[in-house]
Amino acid sequence: MNIILLGPPGAGKGTQAKRLEEKLGLAQLSTGDMLRAERKSGSALGRKVQAVMDAGQLVSDDIIIELIAQRIDGLTGAKGFILDGFPRTVPQAEALDRMLAEKGLKLDAVIEMTVDEAALIERIAGRFSCAGCGASYHDSFNRPKREGVCDVCGGKEFVRRADDRPEAVKIRLEAYRQQTAPILPYYRAKGVLRTVDGMADIDEVGRQIEAILGRA
Ligand code: AMP
Repeated sequence: MNIILLGPPGAGKGTQAKRLEEKLGLAQLSTGDMLRAERKSGSALGRKVQAVMDAGQLVSDDIIIELIAQRIDGLTGAKGFILDGFPRTVPQAEALDRMLAEKGLKLDAVIEMTVDEAALIERIAGRFSCAGCGASYHDSFNRPKREGVCDVCGGKEFVRRADDRPEAVKIRLEAYRQQTAPILPYYRAKGVLRTVDGMADIDEVGRQIEAILGRA
């Protein structure tokens, strides 16, 4: 099963993708995580995208398409994938269609997570993640079960993203409205677009997604 999670920054795409990865054995393909890994490794690509990412703008389509094509090519063992943060522009959506057609793969669902924009700022401001395994948490809504210890890997170091600053979040929301929202009609026309209420609590959103995927 191959699915896309779509929604503005802070909608909970990463959190739900990790859930689906564990529950259904699908591989999470997050272009944001891939770019952050490139930056951490100090690669030429990482250095190239650093300033654009921290400002909250989108990285160019050719870089992103190249990055995701390699990952889709390299997938083995998983029962399918969850795209999280890709595609984010119409040219990316079109490139994805070409990649899938070449591999004889299809998209089973594109799930839009709708959210109230005012709440997003608060959600994003409280986000942090485990420096070791990337598990995501929130100061108010999703704290680790044991204070200061990651539920998943037991790590004790946590990080906050530079682009979660309010100035960068405003630019990211604008990029979503201007560049990403136009792909919704693209998928609606294909008959694969479904919507869940991203404002519900994490388990409820998860249940709504599983119901769509026929796994409830
Ligand atoms: P995310 O973790 O999905 O919020 O992505 C973090 C940042 O990485 C974005 O604000 C962009 O700068 C960049 N990025 C991630 N995915 C894409 C994409 N599909 N297209 C363009 N830029 C992206």
